[in-house]
Amino acid sequence: MPDSSQPHDGPDPTLATDPAVYKTLLESTRAIPWRIDWATATFSYIGPQIEELLGWEPSSWKTVEDWATRMHPDERAWAVDFCVAQSRAGVDHEADYRALTKDGRYVWIRDVVHVVRDEQGEVEALVGFMFDISERKKTEQKLLELQRELERLSFKDGLTGVGNRRHFESVLEREWHQARESRRPLSVVMIDIDYFKQYNDRYGHVAGDDCLRRVGRLLDTATGRPRDFLGRFGGEEFVLVLPDTDADAALRVAECCRDAIAAEAIPHSASPVAGVLTVSMGVGTRIPDDNEPPLSFIAEVDRSLYLAKQQGRNRIVAGKRAD
Ligand code: GH3
Ligand code: MG
Ligand code: MG
Repeated sequence: MPDSSQPHDGPDPTLATDPAVYKTLLESTRAIPWRIDWATATFSYIGPQIEELLGWEPSSWKTVEDWATRMHPDERAWAVDFCVAQSRAGVDHEADYRALTKDGRYVWIRDVVHVVRDEQGEVEALVGFMFDISERKKTEQKLLELQRELERLSFKDGLTGVGNRRHFESVLEREWHQARESRRPLSVVMIDIDYFKQYNDRYGHVAGDDCLRRVGRLLDTATGRPRDFLGRFGGEEFVLVLPDTDADAALRVAECCRDAIAAEAIPHSASPVAGVLTVSMGVGTRIPDDNEPPLSFIAEVDRSLYLAKQQGRNRIVAGKRAD
């Protein structure tokens, strides 16, 4: 027995090997510890706290199957595949998913997994902690909603950083008025990425978002003048408003945009027109008169874009009524 009257230099080393200490520690945290035996895919341990969080008794967690079936169907395939692949490769990992409670609700869990190997280096077990992250998820959701609201109120498209639809509408209104007063031509170019649905399907939505940012940057560089406006019209469509620009000059700007995208050669192996990303464009030019509303001009440019699509994509169609 250690003599407590004697000064000692550090913690009692015997406690470090006492399993009871670990068990008490593990079962008094809010995180839920567990252990899965890799060979049999069964739980060899799960902390009793699981019952307080999800309602399922510890004894009801028998196999990996129990874990998978108590997962929200939206995350199940992804989370199970991911965790199994990482474990098989011997890589520590973490996964967020919704876990089913005994009374039929879902709770967001972060599962942090550590792979235990035997002396031969083979995977022997998985040990980990489940954390209740539902409060964090709620905050994230709220932040996302706030961000959307800010985007709506601001003039910038949140994904690409170019002007948003609202900004486009206000610029168009202003420049239309200006062009009518000065009797100078105003041009608009509508740009739509070809087969972008297939791009997402082939490369995933995250790569699709990256691609939209990249196209936004390229278009921004290809349209140099300070009063030229670049906006995201919607989804995978961009729009240029070019004040003081006649039909020939507008066509040159459109060609410049097309060339910039072609030079970048962004792979798009699912595109039926080319192995790289292409765009179709509609171009229109007007010296506005008093009777025409700007939106009917935009509808005409949109029809040219539609023709470019119909005629095979990867091309520019300019409206006939170029002033
Ligand atoms: P088309 O050549 O006729 O223009 O075909 P398309 O596939 O480009 O056109 P469609 O209108 O059928 O599909 C547009 C696609 O753009 C579908 C949609 O998922 C994708 N998209 C729209 N907005 C976004 C976005 O913000 N991010 C990503 N990644 N994809 C988007
Ligand atoms: Mg489109
Ligand atoms: Mg498209």
